[in-house]
Amino acid sequence: MLLGPPGAGKGTQAQIIAGRLGVPAISTGDIFRANVSGQTELGVKAKVYMDAGDLVPDEVTVAMVKDRLAEPDAKAGFLLDGFPRTIAQAEQLRGSLEQLGQHLDRVLELVVEEDELVRRLSGRRMLVDGEWVQRDDDKPETVRRRLEVYREQTAPLSGFYEGEGLLSRIDAIGSIEEVTDRVMTALGTPGRPGDS
Ligand code: AMP
Repeated sequence: MLLGPPGAGKGTQAQIIAGRLGVPAISTGDIFRANVSGQTELGVKAKVYMDAGDLVPDEVTVAMVKDRLAEPDAKAGFLLDGFPRTIAQAEQLRGSLEQLGQHLDRVLELVVEEDELVRRLSGRRMLVDGEWVQRDDDKPETVRRRLEVYREQTAPLSGFYEGEGLLSRIDAIGSIEEVTDRVMTALGTPGRPGDS
């Protein structure tokens, strides 16, 4: 799984690394955003929290991930991006994985200092239907809240997984390729030059 604050590059790295490992990248943020766009019941519920920069309640999030992990393409492995984000989610994940006969192999923490995160998030744009748009939750006031939520609720996971002997801290400053190479080295799988 990938751990790290908003703007650390989890989404970008998740796509590349999952591609190299041949496993699905499971991003709770992406699943929520797809539900918001599709105006599903889950999306309507989640949007209120997302727009405020807060976490969607654990009971909604954990059930959603549990369903996703039970899908056939996750049987041979998966890369989690943006989940778990609280100690309670981490504990429930452990239970769900046990039931599925699975376990986490490694937790990769992408480390970036806060000034750089604010710079990255405020400049970030996503391509939606051919247009570059700013995510609602990348607006400055929401960014501040998301960073605060990360510090308070998610950062403790670093110590949690370190205690389990699963954590690798990755310096996530540098080019996308440099960070990918550091991750692949931490996984014991050297990066393949020319691969993207
Ligand atoms: P992300 O794309 O990972 O930055 O997630 C965007 C937003 O989705 C977050 O700010 C939360 O509101 C919500 N979200 C994503 N993952 C989780 C999670 N594991 N638990 C609770 N809320 C989440």
